[in-house]
Amino acid sequence: MESLSDILKRARTEGWAVGHFNASNLEQMRVICRVCRDLKSPAMIGTSEGERDHMGLAEAVALRSALRHEFGIPVFLNADHSKSVETAKAAVDAGYDSVHIDLSAKPFAENLAGTKEVVIYARAKNAGVVVEGELGYLRGESKLQKEKIEIKPEDLTDPDQAEHFVAETGVDRLAPAVGNSHGIALDEPALDIERIRAVRARVPESVALVLHGGSGIPEDQIKAAIAAGIANIHVNTELRVAFVRGLRQDLSEHPDETTPYKLYREAEQTMAKVIEEKLKLFGAMDRI
Ligand SMILES: [Zn+2]
Repeated sequence: MESLSDILKRARTEGWAVGHFNASNLEQMRVICRVCRDLKSPAMIGTSEGERDHMGLAEAVALRSALRHEFGIPVFLNADHSKSVETAKAAVDAGYDSVHIDLSAKPFAENLAGTKEVVIYARAKNAGVVVEGELGYLRGESKLQKEKIEIKPEDLTDPDQAEHFVAETGVDRLAPAVGNSHGIALDEPALDIERIRAVRARVPESVALVLHGGSGIPEDQIKAAIAAGIANIHVNTELRVAFVRGLRQDLSEHPDETTPYKLYREAEQTMAKVIEEKLKLFGAMDRI
């Protein structure tokens, strides 16, 4: 199986982006894999700390392996937004393919030291596991925002600092703050495409740039971000909204239904539609 790093490198040179989709149960993980198989895209599944607490680390890893086998496509599991060195190490130990250590809310020196510690640990434990670091501050949570998010200039990633951070930590991927935020914003986001280009120019070619907060960003900005060097895009909130909307619809249309798995049909369909749209937008179809 082609490695995640090789796929990301190929995405970068071919001008598309690998979709990263969050999940917190079997139904969602399977929908992601089914759509990826149908569109011939690699599948990258993320679990935040909350999502993996809900599923269990070992369970998520076992499902990843089972789905990889069942669907016959590359399926990678990423420990999205690990907020401490400990939770990142736990994901490495459990057999995750990738960990995202996110100490971006901490002072720069602390972020650098903690991220470096995770990279060293991951390399020693398992040569195949890759690490993503985050620099710059991303506001918002993965939900529909009720208030405007104000992105401050000091939140954004400084290209000089990015170069230093990547060289010192040895991360495989970097998530910069480039005007994006988590969740679906009230006002239209404005990505700093020039900043993406500047960061891209300062970090080694082997390091992939990741765009978080891919929900609610207009299509033209996503395309410009990929052209500027983004190779990996995270989508969570739009999937959550689609899944829960479908679930509510099934629950209200079938008040007498008591077979739990029959209540996921609409949720799976609405979620599948969002994944399909995103993969097409990212240019990720017919890539495996
Ligand atoms: Zn994120």
